Amino acid sequence: MPTVLYWIRRQSHTDIATEGYVGVSNWFRGRKFIHKRSLKHGSHKNPLLQNAFNKYKNEIVIDVVTKGSLSDCLQLEANLRPHREIGWNLLPGGGLPPSRRGSAWFTNGVTNVSRLECPDGFWPGKVQKSGPTHGSAGRPKSAKHREKISRTLTGRPLSHGQLIAIRASAKLRRGVKKPTVKCPHCGKQGAVGPMRQWHFNNCKSVTQWDLFAAKSGAKHKP
Ligand SMILES: [Zn+2]
Repeated sequence: MPTVLYWIRRQSHTDIATEGYVGVSNWFRGRKFIHKRSLKHGSHKNPLLQNAFNKYKNEIVIDVVTKGSLSDCLQLEANLRPHREIGWNLLPGGGLPPSRRGSAWFTNGVTNVSRLECPDGFWPGKVQKSGPTHGSAGRPKSAKHREKISRTLTGRPLSHGQLIAIRASAKLRRGVKKPTVKCPHCGKQGAVGPMRQWHFNNCKSVTQWDLFAAKSGAKHKP
């Protein structure tokens, strides 16, 4: 299969040496498909090309400039893109396609990396935020998102740590008496939950009329 040097450009572009994106592939059909797919997804690794596509979507064309041997095509690409960031190319030409160069981040592990200290073929890395400093930490989640989380977690067995914590908590509470309350109507005493259910406003010794009378001050049943 012959190697192809191709040019992704805007229809109005005429100068291949300064405009658009130049690439080399020994499997042009596949490479073209991958370019198009990731551009449509908005996930192209080259942000210059992605931005150009977002802006000029219908004016973007891919031309086959020449076919030949791999070394000839790479030499031509190196001549057209002698250094990084020409046209929509980020990296200098002459690398083997599809190049993995430029897909890695360069980090110093401490701060955001400036463009100056970042070597050729790498993206300047940024400090990754995590935990409570992360941008979306503590943000309210949408109902759909919450439902998704719930569906994922429902039925999941408890972890060893969770089991230990639950057992420890149960041990602490064992033998401790819950606070009790007394019903003002019948005088019965008991735990808050069941007392709320069957006494106070629901006490059998009190009728709805008694409650109404106490509230409104009415004296006679209608
Ligand atoms: Zn009662």
